[in-house]
Amino acid sequence: LNSLEFERLSHASGPTGGKILLRNGKEPKSLAIVHCVGSRDEHHNKYCSRVCCMYGMKMAHLVREKTGARVYEFYIDIRAFGKGYEEFYHRMLEEDVEFIRGKVAEVTDAALSPEEEGKLVVRCEDTLLGFTRRIPVDMVVLCAALEPRTDATELRQLLGCSRSKDGFLLEKHPKLAPVSTATDGVFIAGACQGPKDIPDSVAQGAGAAAEALSLIDRGKVEIEPITSVIDSELCSGCRICNELCPYSAIEFKEDDKISSVIDALCKGCGTCAAACPSGAISSQHFTDDVIFSEIEGVLI
Ligand SMILES: Cc1cc2nc3c(=O)[nH]c(=O)nc-3n(C[C@H](O)[C@H](O)[C@H](O)COP(=O)(O)OP(=O)(O)OC[C@H]3O[C@@H](n4cnc5c(N)ncnc54)[C@H](O)[C@@H]3O)c2cc1C
Repeated sequence: LNSLEFERLSHASGPTGGKILLRNGKEPKSLAIVHCVGSRDEHHNKYCSRVCCMYGMKMAHLVREKTGARVYEFYIDIRAFGKGYEEFYHRMLEEDVEFIRGKVAEVTDAALSPEEEGKLVVRCEDTLLGFTRRIPVDMVVLCAALEPRTDATELRQLLGCSRSKDGFLLEKHPKLAPVSTATDGVFIAGACQGPKDIPDSVAQGAGAAAEALSLIDRGKVEIEPITSVIDSELCSGCRICNELCPYSAIEFKEDDKISSVIDALCKGCGTCAAACPSGAISSQHFTDDVIFSEIEGVLI
């Protein structure tokens, strides 16, 4: 099972009414929970999915409570970073959950001994004991990586936001503007910005709501003084700038067949001015004349 399937299975409204059962309707006697599947891995996602350690332990607790089955947690390191999380980890140790430090190499149903017959065998290197182990279990739960949604690109384009290397939406500044984006008035919170748990998502959501309210409360918006301007006489209507603008701040006027800058969206980055083949775009206060005058002023 992947972790979402397990969540559904163990939920009271799930297919078994919350009972943890195998396909044959029996309770598992042993279960493996494999952490970091597709996370912290050069070949998949380099980042840590942040929530798996804790929900993996939550699952272990549910299994111990509901079935009494033996539970093995295969982990690289346990990241119990939140309030009360470390205490929960120790509680799982007291509940006899067996933590095995080492990456799982394989889950196979190929039995090498009578006790492995009819079981799933988890093969891993136990880095604390220093040897390879084969552990036969009835059920395996994979804590799969949290990844951006497949439509994240469309959403990003619609909102004029950027994405970070890992594909999640990019905040304006990781420390000083963690819920703002490159587009004024668009705020982000929760797992769209990167893997995070519910407490962090709720805190970020409250922060984003407060930022939005402070804008509304002010009743007016200050826009950038340095924006691009398109000379309608020179614009050939090629639309190159429409596609290039990272803030979707240039519209094409069908009637006049020329492009025009939406001042409220423009951030004055100058991408359009640099790309315009007709030289029709300039940045206000940074026109060629202004720059040349400044250079002359310095050289005199
Ligand atoms: C298996 C599993 C177990 C977990 N267990 C825990 C736990 O025990 N405790 C904990 O703190 N955290 C847990 N988490 C993490 C938790 O799920 C997240 O922290 C939380 O869901 C983030 O909330 P969110 O609102 O940011 O995103 P989501 O919960 O993903 O909500 C986003 C919503 O936006 C909708 N949406 C997306 N794109 C669009 C669009 N273009 N248009 C309209 N709607 C859209 C989606 O359908 C979804 O309903 C778990 C995660 C997993 C995968």
